[in-house]
Amino acid sequence: MATDPAVGLQLFLDACVENTGREFKPVEGTKYTGSHKKIPILCVSCGEIRKPVRKSVVGTQRCDPCKACSAVAGGRKRRHDAETAIQEVIDVCARRGQPIARTPNTAYEGNQVPIEFLCLSCDETCSPTYGNVVSTGAGPCGTCAKYGFNKNAATKLYFLEHTEKGLAKIGITNVSTSGAYDRVADFTRLGWWERSRTVFDTGREAEAVEQNIHRKLREMGHQVDEKAARKPAATSAATPKSSG
Ligand SMILES: [Zn+2]
Ligand SMILES: [Zn+2]
Repeated sequence: MATDPAVGLQLFLDACVENTGREFKPVEGTKYTGSHKKIPILCVSCGEIRKPVRKSVVGTQRCDPCKACSAVAGGRKRRHDAETAIQEVIDVCARRGQPIARTPNTAYEGNQVPIEFLCLSCDETCSPTYGNVVSTGAGPCGTCAKYGFNKNAATKLYFLEHTEKGLAKIGITNVSTSGAYDRVADFTRLGWWERSRTVFDTGREAEAVEQNIHRKLREMGHQVDEKAARKPAATSAATPKSSG
């Protein structure tokens, strides 16, 4: 059954716009001569006359009649997707109770390329890939993973003091079961005293309290140590404000 040339041409013109959201104009010679034939058409975006095969535009491929403009639009889409990808990683981690935030270096360059974030659980930067977090379900932070912090296991919120250095430290660690890594033991070897501890049923609760305390300490003007007292992998340390 032959397609009416007028109908065939109109379908083609409509598809040019529908496939791309851009404008195309008929030129001399723009006519339907068969489904597998090329049809000249003006791409208004770049001013070039393109000659796509009708079938590729109207058929299931839904091609862009202008490959040059299609590539440009594709580039814009990928950049947009980069923002979406970054936000998706942040959202997925937030839903899992592993909050992360952007840093000035946060950039997405592909599903398997590490993206820098700030891990809000340990205040260290981390570099998960989109693929690992979103597709594989891996955690975002190597530091947290290294110490195997389990958000669902019993967790203690500890308060440590180093009298010589005049430092105090608040952090969380899973309650040590036999053979498990004990972060507090590491600190006590370095001269810290464990002054108090509160045990929570889950790491999630302990972490919420810890982050609350850190925020209040910052609001009170205490300086939360950036690097100095972070060995080994302290969640943070605060310098007590001078009372004088
Ligand atoms: Zn074009
Ligand atoms: Zn972390």
